[in-house]
Amino acid sequence: MSVSLKPPRSPRMKRMQRQDLFYIYDDRDASSVSDQTECADGSTQTIINRRRRLPTSVTNTITPRRKLKKRKIRLMDWKKYHRLSVIYAFIDDLERDFPAICTVSVIGKSVEGRDIKMLKISNSNANNSAVWLDACIHPREWISTAVVTYIADVLVRNFHTLSTSITNKDWHIIPVLNPDGYEYTHTGERMWRKNRAWYGGECVGVDLNRNFSYAWGQSNGEQSNGSSDDPSHVFYRGPAPFSEPETVAVRDTILGSGTPFKVFLSFHSYFELIIFPWGNRKDPCPDYLHLLEAGTIMARAIHETTGKTYKVGSTKDLTYYACGTSIDWSYSIAKIPYSFMVELRSRKHKFRLPKEQIMDNCVEIWNAVIKLMEYVDQN
Ligand SMILES: [Zn+2]
Repeated sequence: MSVSLKPPRSPRMKRMQRQDLFYIYDDRDASSVSDQTECADGSTQTIINRRRRLPTSVTNTITPRRKLKKRKIRLMDWKKYHRLSVIYAFIDDLERDFPAICTVSVIGKSVEGRDIKMLKISNSNANNSAVWLDACIHPREWISTAVVTYIADVLVRNFHTLSTSITNKDWHIIPVLNPDGYEYTHTGERMWRKNRAWYGGECVGVDLNRNFSYAWGQSNGEQSNGSSDDPSHVFYRGPAPFSEPETVAVRDTILGSGTPFKVFLSFHSYFELIIFPWGNRKDPCPDYLHLLEAGTIMARAIHETTGKTYKVGSTKDLTYYACGTSIDWSYSIAKIPYSFMVELRSRKHKFRLPKEQIMDNCVEIWNAVIKLMEYVDQN
């Protein structure tokens, strides 16, 4: 059975959003964190409400091995954005409550020494292929973490009712790939995009999505920057490919996996796009039509869920040159055939997606992921 969810609410369902020109990495919105009201400060939360009620079409058939104990930590839900401690406690709890299918591991340490945690969801079938979902490589894109944690929650709590195309995969979910930056967007600068690396005696940060080795630092002969060697630049690529521990964690986890990865989904915001290689050049990648078809199937599922329209195409076609990106690397070097970057909501609110839209965005993407997995197994 394939579980397809409808959102509990669907404001603006019929509205098509059309904007022909946009700037995907708009840094003009740089007000301080004190302006933020949508973020829950986990330290003040005392309510235990982890048994979030799922939409009625989904029932949980997995019984936790033992009863939940009372915990100091607090609420995980998709009604607001959460701090790193809440998110990590959430995946740790999933592992504890569903040990047959959940494993949490630390795949690396950030520049400032924080754990980069990964939740693996798997029935341990040796014939499975692997799926990668990462979020908040750009830390200001909070909705991405909400979406992948939602997918984790639905997957785990409904695992035995889900279709084979879902359960025959080993799901590798990295809710916060850039934990230093993520915390900094809560405590310092809400619009921070990079990690918290120091170069030249100051914390300048590296754009982790320009730090992968494929086409790293490539000059394409056009004025458009695929990345920058200027440490103060928002697209600073770092001093060398994989100079940053966060990108190394991705590389080593994927290349070190005994299970072949078939799908790589990196979640960003805010332009409502489904994009695929190449980012570093104009010509279509070898699987262009195939990826276009798969992306279109995802976009259709999104539209059927909430009415939102996501455009589909190559990175270069829909945005601009980008060199050293994770999806160009995953596609070309790691040989992951379905490599996509999903730009979540919203063009209207940019990085500050209202918390009231979190659930709609989560549900529409979950339905898209279901359709992608069906497509992957059929092709
Ligand atoms: Zn991004």
